[in-house]
Amino acid sequence: MTTTDSRPRADMVIADARQMLTCASDTSYDVAPIEHGWMAITGETIAAVGDRAQVEAAVDCSEAQIIAASGCVVAPGFVDSHTHLVFGGSRVDEYAAKMTENDPEVVRQMGIKTGILATVERTRAAALDELVDVAVIRLRRMLSAGTTTVESKSGYGLSTEAELKLLRANRALAGETPVDLLSTFLGAHGFPPEVPREIYLRAVLAEMIPQVAEEGLAEFADVWCDDGYYTTGESRAILEVAQAAGMAPKIHADAYSYVGGSDLAVEMRMVSSDHLNYTPRPVMARLAESGVVGVVMPALDFAVGHARPFDVRAMIDEGMTIALATDLCPGCWVESQQFVMALACRLYGMSPAEALWAATTGGSLALQLGADRGSLEAGKLADIQIWDVPRYEHAIYRLGGNVVGRVIKRGKVVVERRDDDLVAVRARG
Ligand code: ZN
Repeated sequence: MTTTDSRPRADMVIADARQMLTCASDTSYDVAPIEHGWMAITGETIAAVGDRAQVEAAVDCSEAQIIAASGCVVAPGFVDSHTHLVFGGSRVDEYAAKMTENDPEVVRQMGIKTGILATVERTRAAALDELVDVAVIRLRRMLSAGTTTVESKSGYGLSTEAELKLLRANRALAGETPVDLLSTFLGAHGFPPEVPREIYLRAVLAEMIPQVAEEGLAEFADVWCDDGYYTTGESRAILEVAQAAGMAPKIHADAYSYVGGSDLAVEMRMVSSDHLNYTPRPVMARLAESGVVGVVMPALDFAVGHARPFDVRAMIDEGMTIALATDLCPGCWVESQQFVMALACRLYGMSPAEALWAATTGGSLALQLGADRGSLEAGKLADIQIWDVPRYEHAIYRLGGNVVGRVIKRGKVVVERRDDDLVAVRARG
């Protein structure tokens, strides 16, 4: 009598990682490392994680492709939950001028167009194909730095036609790289110069949201709620209509003042409240209690020389779930979550483990994707990065570097890099 093997069959095995950072824990910020960790992958999905004996007991690994990870760190792919990925042109002239000149009025007098409206002009002038072509290059760089899921907002169109163009660019981008791309409608990113505020607000509510919903162009809706931007009343009106149309609400809140953005996030049980520089401590506690994820973006605060950095230690002490994101945009041109983690640790006092958790699991929670990614455990997507270093702290120590050796997206190796310096570091252990 023959016995049949009931174990699932692995297509790929990641063998003997020096540190496998599973982030599979009920405790926030716990990267739950396994020393000499193994993983089996079947199709797009992780079939088993553990030590060699555990993985081989659960899964038939006899015909799998073996990915040797001796001396390496294995981590979940980064989930970048806040970007303005699609835009025309750059603002390098503004950025360079602001290195020595702090007064934005003086920069404008130098003949330099600044801020969101400068990018709106360049984005409106670009064809959809051109926007996709430049954004694809950014997405590929993000992937090669370990990011496997990206959220991308509109907001540099500020007219019905141009906002729809940006969201259609998001949809076109979705098939251009292995990265999973989620789309957010941010028509309320600012106010266009050519129409009165009320007219634009009406267009957002009565034209844009219905069309975005009809074409299925966005998973989320977002609003910039701050002094000089949208009031809490306007933000509530927009996000309620968007929510009724099937978009889950997010908010840019408390970045430059406190007008109650995070209170609105609590009231509406939003998916996330992003920026949080001026959030009062009692409001942090309410965000924690209501399960709103706080998305913080150290590179943005660095790029703008923010006068009031966010207080991530207070947020964590109050029990908040934090996601780290790039905020990639023309004012903060950063594609690497590793760089963001380095800033989060050095400037904001996160531990390397907290930063890694926030850039992976935290990001997945900020996009309502915690059920299928953000940690390495059986049943989740095989979205994985393999770092050519023996301990994960190298990712925050090698400033501006890239420790990624390989990226696996949905069970397929999609990035392979070789950096001889890192290979030597790995060999030394
Ligand atoms: Zn933003």
